[in-house]
Amino acid sequence: MSQLRERMRDKKRIVVKIGSSSLQHVETGDMDYIRMEKLVRELCDIRNQGREVVLVTSGAIAAGKKTVHIKDICAQTEAEALAVKQACSAIGQARLMTTYQKLFAEYNQVAAQILMTKNTIVDSLNRYNAQNTFRELLKLGAIPIVNENDTVATYEIEIGDNDTLSAIVAALVNADMLILLSDIDGLYTDDPRKNPNARFIEQVDELTDELMDMGKGSTGSDVGTGGMNTKMIAARIATRSNVDMVIANSSDIGVLHEILAGENRGTLFVAHPDEGFDLPSFVEHLHNT
Ligand code: GLU
Repeated sequence: MSQLRERMRDKKRIVVKIGSSSLQHVETGDMDYIRMEKLVRELCDIRNQGREVVLVTSGAIAAGKKTVHIKDICAQTEAEALAVKQACSAIGQARLMTTYQKLFAEYNQVAAQILMTKNTIVDSLNRYNAQNTFRELLKLGAIPIVNENDTVATYEIEIGDNDTLSAIVAALVNADMLILLSDIDGLYTDDPRKNPNARFIEQVDELTDELMDMGKGSTGSDVGTGGMNTKMIAARIATRSNVDMVIANSSDIGVLHEILAGENRGTLFVAHPDEGFDLPSFVEHLHNT
C-alpha cells in the first residue's frame, strides 16, 4: 500500500458524488433502489467510523422526467425547454430526497438538503451562509445531501454539472477528500470504450495541460451531464484546494470502503494546495475556462 493511499484511512471529512447514470437502470431509466440502498448503507457506516459525510447527488431531472413520462424534452423555444427541465427537476428532487430520507432514516441517520447555484459561491453573503449551514449540519451529525438548484438555474447562474459542484462543495467545506462515483473505473490514457489499448492511470501527481486536454471532448454517458472533462475540472478545483480526489466505478459501491481503507482503487488525484487559488473567482468564470 502506497503512503499516499494509506493516508486515506485518516481522512475525516469526505464528500461523495454519485451521478445520474449510477442511480438509474440503463434499460428503463427508473431509479435503481438497490444501488441507492447500498450507497446509503455505505455512507452511514462511514459516518459510524467517526467520519463526516457530504453526499452530492444527481438524478433529479432524470427522476422528474420519468415521473411525468417525458422521454425527450420537445419544446418550441429554448426558454420553454428550460422551463420543462426546471419543472422536472422540481418534481424529481422531491422524489430523490424522499427516497434518500427514507433510506438514511433506516440507519438512524439524519439527512438534510442543500441546493446551490453559482451565486451561492460567487456572492459572499450567500457563500458565508452556505458555509455556516454546512458547518452546523456536520456538527449536528447530519448528512448534507447537495444538488444544483436546477429549478432556478439558468445558464448565467448555473454550475452546470455535479462533478464540478462536488469539487466546489469539497473546497467550501474544507473537505479532506472527494470521491467521484461514476460509470468508469477512473482515468485512462484514452477512451477505453473506443480504444482497447487505453491504459489505466492509478495516480495523478500533477494535473498537466496535457491531462486536462485529454478530458476535453469526452461526453461520458447520455444521462446526467458529466464526462471526463468535468471530472478534470473537478480535479483542478479539488487538488488546488488541498483536497485529494478519487474517481471510482459505482458498479461496486463497496469501493467507498476500500478507498477509505487505503486500497488502490480508482484514480487518485493528489492534492496540491495552491495559495493563489480563489474559489469564488474560479466559479464566476467557470464557463469561460
Ligand atoms: N443536477 C442535475 C440533476 O440532478 C444533474 C447534473 C449532473 O448530472 O451533473 O438532475
